[in-house]
Amino acid sequence: MAPQIVKAQSTPFKRQLGNVNSINKWAVQCRRCFKWRSIENQKQFEVIRCKFVEDPFYCEKKNGVSCDDPADLIYNASRTWVIDKPNLPRTPANFKRDLVLRRDHSKMDVYYVTPTGKRLRSITEAAQFLQENKDFSHLTLADFSFTSPKVMQDTVPDYVKRKGSSVNGRVLS
Ligand SMILES: [Zn+2]
Repeated sequence: MAPQIVKAQSTPFKRQLGNVNSINKWAVQCRRCFKWRSIENQKQFEVIRCKFVEDPFYCEKKNGVSCDDPADLIYNASRTWVIDKPNLPRTPANFKRDLVLRRDHSKMDVYYVTPTGKRLRSITEAAQFLQENKDFSHLTLADFSFTSPKVMQDTVPDYVKRKGSSVNGRVLS
């Protein structure tokens, strides 16, 4: 598997609590040993992701960790994994970037919440927002990305696949 950068989605436990559709763990894969290392929060994750191609992740970038240490996370179906494209821009200060998993786990939808509380759901809406709000003239459209991570279908829970196949008329592998 090529080195990848991921977010892991909710555990079954969380799902029962109703916190169904958002990311609750972040991880990156070491380019050398391919182990997954957990990253504390979205902000730190985005710092690594934004220059992932030219500055790949290695275990020792995490304090006190080396490739000899056991992995923090194992890629398996105990949680649903979604994998980001590398080098997405960091979320602008005071904005929030959120991802919501569709009920059938087919994809995640990306949106930004602006400091003024507005939701931006597309690059068109971001363009309009920047045009109408001169306070944010330091930002450009390159600061936004609506590219959503790939939902890894081999980690989607069986009960979702069963529902998904009846709703969509297609079987997820
Ligand atoms: Zn390593």
